[in-house]
Amino acid sequence: MSTAGQRLPEGPYDAVWASPGRVNLIGEHTDYNDGYVLPFALPHSTVVGGRRLDRPSWTVWSEQTGETVTFDGTQKVEGWAAYVAGVVWALREAGHDVPGAALAITSDVPSGAGLSSSAAIECAVLAVLLDLGGFDVPMAVRPRLAQRAENEYVGAPTGIMDQSASTLCRAGHALFLDCRSLATEQVPFDLAAQGLAILVVDSRAPHAHVTGEYAARRRDCEEAAKILDVPALRDVEPDGLQAALARLDDEVMRKRVRHVVTEDQRVLDTVAALRSGDARAVGPLMTASHSSMREDYEITVPEVDTAVSAALRAGAYGARMTGGGFGGCVLALVDAERCAAVEAAVREAFAEAGFTPPDAFVVTPAEGTHKIDYAG
Ligand code: ADP
Ligand code: MG
Repeated sequence: MSTAGQRLPEGPYDAVWASPGRVNLIGEHTDYNDGYVLPFALPHSTVVGGRRLDRPSWTVWSEQTGETVTFDGTQKVEGWAAYVAGVVWALREAGHDVPGAALAITSDVPSGAGLSSSAAIECAVLAVLLDLGGFDVPMAVRPRLAQRAENEYVGAPTGIMDQSASTLCRAGHALFLDCRSLATEQVPFDLAAQGLAILVVDSRAPHAHVTGEYAARRRDCEEAAKILDVPALRDVEPDGLQAALARLDDEVMRKRVRHVVTEDQRVLDTVAALRSGDARAVGPLMTASHSSMREDYEITVPEVDTAVSAALRAGAYGARMTGGGFGGCVLALVDAERCAAVEAAVREAFAEAGFTPPDAFVVTPAEGTHKIDYAG
């Protein structure tokens, strides 16, 4: 259970729910190509306590902003509370008579670090409002509701992965998600049982050019799919890759396609390794994914490349940048007892390069959205 629950102000609450942040183990920039991703939930979560109000009005306080915002659904809410108002809006759009509520929010998910504090707040608010309203909405359809809040209300064009992970992940598992069919499978990823852990390194590299570069990658992929006459790059099979590349004149486009097609295959290979109980075999796939992002997709920056190399030199089984790129976090798969040594090696490499010192923490796959018994 989340320790963040203890930090909620004294209730009473009619319902308290927690939703975690997430990292993507492997499968980068595959989502908008109708491909595969494999996120798992972090032990860090956002906790929301809610009390029913007898009028259609919502008051929300966040420990992270120290602010209280009130809205009644008739005005467009801006700023951080838009993530909450967006969920109310999405639920109403879906035909639910959302009860008014007083909400208190606290979180230990780092915000803006690519660990999806945005999905965590949306999914926890969604769970509380559904609980308060007594609505029976299956977990499987909740990610779409939360995603609508972020896409259409907040205005951030994100895929379905973040909300799916925050809602559906199970402790000791990664979530295999097919971004075309939205089919999911819980894949055993019990690191602790195998003496392993994931070291997360937040490179703290300034995110520059992210939006423009993301749009450019998407455009290249869509154009390539058109030339190759497939609905999406997911439909290019690995054994048809060479033939597909030969049909593309543009060298940059060839590199983009090669990343997406090989990355989809690496997700499938990772799932196969995990199903067979061999988590260590995931290491080389992570490292290959990083090379592909660096060489072919060209979305890494010196800070994340440095973190990956230093982690590998210090004995990590594999390491890769996770997230959209141009900064963000690196994951390293390490023996649990080697975490401190690997972290020290990364810190030393950053100091030598003159980079801002990174943040680092150790994680094992945690539970998705869950209800908290709250006494108080
Ligand atoms: P990420 O999802 O990678 O953390 P985003 O930019 O998508 O980054 O979302 C971060 C934003 O979500 C914050 O700037 C804030 O507006 C909102 N947010 C997330 N968690 C909280 C919280 N606990 N309290 C208030 N706002 C939050
Ligand atoms: Mg986000």
